[in-house]
Amino acid sequence: MTLIGKRALVTGASRGIGAAIAKALAAEGADVAITYERSSDAATQVVRSIAALGRNAVAIQADSADADAVRNSVDQTVDALGGIDILVNNAGILRLSAVADMTLADIDATLDVNVRAPIIASKTAIPHLGRGGRIINIGSFFADKVPGGAGLSVYALSKSALTAFSQGLARELGPRDITVNVVQPGSIDTDMNPAKGPFGEILRSITALGRYGKVEDIANMVTFLAGPKASYITGSTLTVDGGANA
Ligand code: NDP
Repeated sequence: MTLIGKRALVTGASRGIGAAIAKALAAEGADVAITYERSSDAATQVVRSIAALGRNAVAIQADSADADAVRNSVDQTVDALGGIDILVNNAGILRLSAVADMTLADIDATLDVNVRAPIIASKTAIPHLGRGGRIINIGSFFADKVPGGAGLSVYALSKSALTAFSQGLARELGPRDITVNVVQPGSIDTDMNPAKGPFGEILRSITALGRYGKVEDIANMVTFLAGPKASYITGSTLTVDGGANA
């Protein structure tokens, strides 16, 4: 186990990719705090499965669109786990809309949850991170290429913002031996992007491997980046998309 003694916060981890990341970090030995917006029962289930591994776990209700809640979730993690070594900014929302039709509320929500929250969580965690600390931002393969017709422009913008943010922050935190990276999932079968959903077949067909990814495919990459074998990787963008952008 590579993460014994480490303390992690995974945002948006009641379901989907975040839940898999939280469990995978715990399986490597980390104590884990998770945030969620509404799914308190699902969050409790994630905490139970982490506790069953013999690790400390806590679920924190925190809407990523609320700056104070994001700040408090980091502070609560530090209080509950005794510190923070790994921050995974995973919570994200997808509001499909052509730009001409997109409401101001949907534009603001996308930017607040997908961009502002990772900045605020990082800003709050940075003073607590020691040498070997990790910030891992969950982007999207749509940051590199945007398929036509689906109304992805603002979502893609929000994810591409994480690339430049992570590069800059890698420079800021490198002297303290803290790494900052982006993991860009491709099509992963979750509530956000079900393999059997309306876009499932087209998204599957553009992969080189001919299949959707599983939440564990992303959790494996995040766990690797969080661990000691990834100590020389920083400011990088790792795409896990089954070759969709190849
Ligand atoms: P899901 O919609 O399946 O799950 C989202 C998770 O984030 C839930 O735990 C949800 O909590 C939480 N969440 C959503 N909004 C907020 C909020 N405002 N505040 C706090 N928590 C919130 O998403 P995925 O697991 O599919 O996606 C995870 C990340 O991966 C996102 O950043 C997404 O953009 C990215 N991604 C996903 C891809 C995919 O194909 N699935 C592809 C590329 C990127 P609750 O249960 O309480 O609602």
